Amino acid sequence: MNIKNHNEVGHWVQGLIETDNLHAFYVSRYWLRLRAEVLLEFKNECQHCKARGFYKRADTVHHVQYVRKYPRLALSKVYIFGGKEYKNLIPLCHACHEEVHGYRQKEKKKPLTEERW
Ligand SMILES: [Zn+2]
Ligand SMILES: [Zn+2]
Repeated sequence: MNIKNHNEVGHWVQGLIETDNLHAFYVSRYWLRLRAEVLLEFKNECQHCKARGFYKRADTVHHVQYVRKYPRLALSKVYIFGGKEYKNLIPLCHACHEEVHGYRQKEKKKPLTEERW
């Protein structure tokens, strides 16, 4: 499969969601390549920890616009909202990632898996 634009990405990812196979996205070379690129651009630094003034190594690239909600943005570094460009892919450490998804307070909840990113 050769991805050329957002519509194609959208169709592909939507199809994976519908067949309950989103895992295939996270192990695809498209995502792995982009993920590595984003981590490199941000020097592997957790952006939320950075905003709080300290360094922590990122181990996750978070989708600001959730993949399940916006499949067509799954491979986009940025998104446009109200005519302004925002970052869509942000490196985070494990703790900040869980915090972003609001799973930290509820310890009984299942751990965050790739499919729920
Ligand atoms: Zn962090
Ligand atoms: Zn996330």
